[in-house]
Amino acid sequence: MEQTFIMIKPDGVHRNLISEIIGRFKCSGFHLKGLKVLNAERSIAEKHYEDLAGKRYFPALVGDITSGPVVVVAMVWEGDNVIVNCRKIIGASDPSKWEPGTVRADYAIEIGRNVIHGSDSIESARKEIALWFPEGLFGWKCNLY
Ligand code: UDP
Ligand code: MG
Repeated sequence: MEQTFIMIKPDGVHRNLISEIIGRFKCSGFHLKGLKVLNAERSIAEKHYEDLAGKRYFPALVGDITSGPVVVVAMVWEGDNVIVNCRKIIGASDPSKWEPGTVRADYAIEIGRNVIHGSDSIESARKEIALWFPEGLFGWKCNLY
């Protein structure tokens, strides 16, 4: 089954949106494989967004993810087509395309304050899960389905 990495960004944590955002992923068929609160180290944030290293907003983005004594909530969800389905729950990157009912439409303020990250492909999910969960995920298997 496919896995994806979801992160509530510092702005979502500061605005007390943790439970609200986690609740958006309670779809049946998604299984939680990892959940933790942590300080985002600069080296990890830079590696996470390395594809965007040339962008003018890169320093602000890394600064935002690592700002102050912040925490991020990192989650791994597993399920069929979980990457695309989670991106639908999250909503578009571009604010002009924020669909009603998505996390970003409901809570984001602007493109750089969009409260949540979700992997965009199988390769990035693999990379991000290895980066943020070097200790591995927990090994349970849901027996209800
Ligand atoms: N970002 C930004 N300005 C931009 C584009 C992106 O600040 O013009 C930030 C924003 O926080 C976004 C992150 O960079 O979530 C990663 O960009 P990406 O295009 O990968 O969007 P996402 O995958 O988060 O929808
Ligand atoms: Mg992205």
